[in-house]
Amino acid sequence: GVRVRIAPSPTGEPHVGTAYIALFNYLFAKKHNGTFILRIEDTDATRSTPEFEQKVLDALKWCGLEWSEGPDIGGPYGPYRQSDRKDMYRPYVDKIVANGHGFKCFCTPERLEQMREAQRAAGKPPKYDGLCLTLSAEEVTKRVEAGEPHVVRMKIPTEGSCKFVDGVYGEVEIPWDAVDMQVLLKADGMPTYHMANVVDDHLMKITHVARGEEWLASVPKHILIYQYLGLEPPVFMHLSLMRNHDKSKLSKRKNPTSISYYSALGYLPEALMNFLGLFFIQIAEGEELLTMDQLAEKFDPENLSKAGAIFDIQKLDWLNGRWLREQLTEEQFNQRVLEWAMENDRVRQGLKLSQSRISKLGELPDLAGFLLKSDLGLTPEAFAKVKSTPEEILEVLNQVQPDLEKMPEWTVESIEAELRASADKLGKKLKVVVAPLFVAVSGSSRSLPLFDSMAILGRSVVRQRLKVAAQ
Ligand code: ATP
Ligand code: GLU
Repeated sequence: GVRVRIAPSPTGEPHVGTAYIALFNYLFAKKHNGTFILRIEDTDATRSTPEFEQKVLDALKWCGLEWSEGPDIGGPYGPYRQSDRKDMYRPYVDKIVANGHGFKCFCTPERLEQMREAQRAAGKPPKYDGLCLTLSAEEVTKRVEAGEPHVVRMKIPTEGSCKFVDGVYGEVEIPWDAVDMQVLLKADGMPTYHMANVVDDHLMKITHVARGEEWLASVPKHILIYQYLGLEPPVFMHLSLMRNHDKSKLSKRKNPTSISYYSALGYLPEALMNFLGLFFIQIAEGEELLTMDQLAEKFDPENLSKAGAIFDIQKLDWLNGRWLREQLTEEQFNQRVLEWAMENDRVRQGLKLSQSRISKLGELPDLAGFLLKSDLGLTPEAFAKVKSTPEEILEVLNQVQPDLEKMPEWTVESIEAELRASADKLGKKLKVVVAPLFVAVSGSSRSLPLFDSMAILGRSVVRQRLKVAAQ
């Protein structure tokens, strides 16, 4: 039967893009009476964390995208977390090397950087130059025995091209010349994404791989690994990424992209799935409101477009409003509001900060409501109480924006430290810098403490609000 998977890397806040790809796989499984699997791809040990993994599980559950096999519930082909499967990849890498399809590479990071630098200078895309392909078997043995760090790379044909059929793109042809001699096994013995992904899809009997179009260019490598191992590749389907109206990629540097943002603001998971599901079906106007079951019924991967899925937030708002109005009884609505308030991190953190700052509960919406809004409706008058000229306010906003971008982590303490540094750079007192930020972030000069508020809102919302304020 059909077996599909969502294979997130737990390296950040779970992304609406992940929900979009997961929904496609979920509907595909539902349509074909197949199995939908969750696999955690955490081979990048420096960026993966157990906290993000838990958030991925929570976010997919919130979406209603339940899996039949996964790291939390196990299954016949487990474990479902790549770091727990480390020893399973070695024999496959060994086989590739033993058959002469892979080779050990001793090049140091410094040499590789120099090589890439030279390639970039010559206007060529960076690609391994094959130096270690020329090593004799004796030399390789000698250097391995001497304990020299090395990786394993795959060999790539020197001429011709890789042709394959993609479920969305149709016939694709990529010249081998454009394909890098991919590292399969890292110096620390961990497989790379490519190696682990292929081996796991094989061992987990995945029949169809549906993922973001950013992986289309990796298919030649994957097909070659399947060939080297004597295995049959799955069917590939590369889904167009979600884009803004201007065709730019929906990206966390530009938009709020975390699933938790949408749940915190009070979008219903049904409405979000409805919205994302419309990218996978063709319907007439007036038929947009669809439940998960209805989406699965109408789901038709034959009709996918390569044009890009425009993430139209107004359409999402409209659908969410319709779900609230048309799909919930008054009682269900009340129930949803209570659940939303109880399970909402922003509400919880906002209340904690508010308790000591109000004399009546009715003051809460004015004090903390900015934490739950997508748009503050900021006007120039909002800055009237700030004791700086409009030029000075703009100077602060323009200094602070890039400073906040380069912070490695986003916490109350790091935000405070960074804003103190910004104030120093401007030769201004901290409170002079803080005052306009207060308004930009919360919409008023009387609200919750700034550093905490910024930490709760998250970097992408703060970024958006500062940008709006500087306009
Ligand atoms: P960046 O800000 O660098 O663009 P990002 O927004 O792409 O980052 P990542 O953390 O790199 O976020 O991606 C997380 C997951 O979300 C990946 O699996 C990726 O495939 C998916 N994803 C990211 N952006 C999109 C998009 N625009 N459409 C669909 N999926 C996306
Ligand atoms: N871990 C990859 C990602 O997060 C999975 C890509 C794939 O599905 O092959 O994008």
